[in-house]
Amino acid sequence: MATTLGLDEKLLEIIVCPQCHGALSPVETADGGELVCQGSCGYAYPVRDGIPVLLVDEARKPA
Ligand SMILES: [Zn+2]
Repeated sequence: MATTLGLDEKLLEIIVCPQCHGALSPVETADGGELVCQGSCGYAYPVRDGIPVLLVDEARKPA
């Protein structure tokens, strides 16, 4: 079963990538988790203390 990183499923359904408005997919990482854009940009947004940080400046960009 896919992780939600402790985030509300309803929240995950409504939030989108601020860069390209693509869907975000929660992924567990060594530091907790991040929301990876499934749209055109592929940015990954950190989840800190259970709060998704949907800021392009804070996103991890794909190589
Ligand atoms: Zn995106």
